[in-house]
Amino acid sequence: MPKNQKASDIFREFLRQGKNRITPERFEILDAALEFDGHFSTDELFISMKNNKSRVSRATVYNTLELLTQCNLLSQRNFGDNMNRYESNYRRKFHDHLICLDCGRIVEFTNDKVNNIQQEICDALGYESSSYSFNIFVKCKNKKECPYHSGK
Ligand SMILES: [Zn+2]
Ligand SMILES: [Zn+2]
Repeated sequence: MPKNQKASDIFREFLRQGKNRITPERFEILDAALEFDGHFSTDELFISMKNNKSRVSRATVYNTLELLTQCNLLSQRNFGDNMNRYESNYRRKFHDHLICLDCGRIVEFTNDKVNNIQQEICDALGYESSSYSFNIFVKCKNKKECPYHSGK
């Protein structure tokens, strides 16, 4: 039995409807992606799966992450460094991000005002919101705690 039964059902149905092939590798990637702690790039997930003796190919990881984003089990994130990252949406509350430009630390936060504002803007302009991205770029105030400044 898959580790994330409900997510597997959602993914299987999505693959069926899109006439995509349903392969065990894709579900292996689904589990690895949902269990990854935090935000990850295609390569980070691929390497961690390889370290766990998986035989998936990088291309399959790449394609499957795209499919998992299309069916909303994952969100794609861009934190301003031209690198696509993903994170699980499954059983997670919606949140936004604050990124330290010096050390790259990523802090997640939830603020209903941000969500309401993007909804208001869409309503006012006559659009239906599909997704939005709200990043705050910062520099750690406490230089001792910022690995970039403390030399860690
Ligand atoms: Zn996040
Ligand atoms: Zn920092």
